[in-house]
Amino acid sequence: MIEFRNVSKIYGNNHIALSNISLSIKKGEFVFLVGPSGAGKTTFIKLLLKEIEPTSGQIIVNGVDITQLKRRKVPFYRRNIGVVFQDFRLLSDKTVYENIAFAMEIANASSKDIKRKVPQLLSLVGLLNKEKFYPHQLSGGEQQRVAIARALANNPSLIICDEPTGNLDPENSWAIMELLNEINKSGTTIVMATHAKDIVDAMRKRVVALEKGVIIRDEQRGVYGYDD
Ligand code: ADP
Ligand code: ADP
Repeated sequence: MIEFRNVSKIYGNNHIALSNISLSIKKGEFVFLVGPSGAGKTTFIKLLLKEIEPTSGQIIVNGVDITQLKRRKVPFYRRNIGVVFQDFRLLSDKTVYENIAFAMEIANASSKDIKRKVPQLLSLVGLLNKEKFYPHQLSGGEQQRVAIARALANNPSLIICDEPTGNLDPENSWAIMELLNEINKSGTTIVMATHAKDIVDAMRKRVVALEKGVIIRDEQRGVYGYDD
């Protein structure tokens, strides 16, 4: 489903962020992306979202080389990917319900579909009773569950998570991981950049470790491998 072929990214200051990376991820996989700060994890994610372009190499997603994608097709491409961030990034002036509905409106969903789908998503993340709440009225764990519901709203085949538990206590972190694990079991591919050693070590999923822009480890049932 995702294939990086000899991908390099050199930023303007001649800094090599990724150096000749090749990696393939199959549909339905759960992949942890680990490595020290500055290793290239964020660059990898930005390339996958087509927020930046590689200096060289190809990035194939669902059979299409996204580096060659026409500008007008980029929004359609991105709709196929749900994104979850460390800082939640909910719209503060919209309720829980509206945050999810808005993501569907942007993707031109009908109001009938929105009315059917939003309660389903809220039920999946256990927040049906909070649909009228605003983000500031929710705990961090609840806000992240809303963000996950929003990420799922347009039925993406891929969810990318950038440090999704970085602002959460251990209990809420595990609740989020259980939710992501369920979503993965229903067939959605998950790529998650993280520094959460306990979570990576307990879940035994595929672990891809980057260091200085190079993949130094790729294990099917891996561990975190660093002390922090
Ligand atoms: P990580 O997410 O693993 O911390 P990044 O992908 O953010 O790593 O960064 C990889 C390297 O590229 C780092 O050395 C960083 O300083 C550099 N880098 C990241 N973004 C830019 C940029 N916009 N311009 C120049 N250098 C950058
Ligand atoms: P805390 O007591 O610090 O809030 P938890 O009770 O949530 O933390 O978890 C304690 C440890 O048990 C975790 O660090 C983890 O190693 C393990 N653990 C908790 N929940 C799960 C889970 N759903 N799957 C696998 N391991 C888990």
